[in-house]
Amino acid sequence: MPRLSEQIVKQLRADGYRITTPRRWVIKTLCESDRHLTVEQIHECLEEADIRVDEATVYRTLQWLKECNYVAQTDIGQGAYVYCLIGDHPHHHLVCLKCNKSIQVDNDVFDSLRRDLMAQHKFKARIDHFAIFGLCEECQDKD
Ligand SMILES: [Zn+2]
Ligand SMILES: [Zn+2]
Repeated sequence: MPRLSEQIVKQLRADGYRITTPRRWVIKTLCESDRHLTVEQIHECLEEADIRVDEATVYRTLQWLKECNYVAQTDIGQGAYVYCLIGDHPHHHLVCLKCNKSIQVDNDVFDSLRRDLMAQHKFKARIDHFAIFGLCEECQDKD
């Protein structure tokens, strides 16, 4: 079983994309991280690996991966967009506005919304990594 990053590279090549060194490393960094990363954090990882590209290149690479449906770009209340691989099991976040806690939820919470949007607007929603802001249970109690 090839590693995830190699599978993605292989698929992108099969789709006719050119895989440059920065592209390969951005994919690798995202695959190997167990958390969501900002452009700045990905750039730092590349610098540590001695891959010299600027943040603008990292940003453009992420936009490209987003267009290819491999990466989600989300505001989860950290002051900058975070990026993560969508993968086979998408997840989403409930983010508390008071304590900043982030609760991970499964993809199926959006099934009825997806159905309604299709039925009412013929709109095929791409909800691949979503954040809903609100108040967590403890913070509601404090109100
Ligand atoms: Zn997430
Ligand atoms: Zn809270």
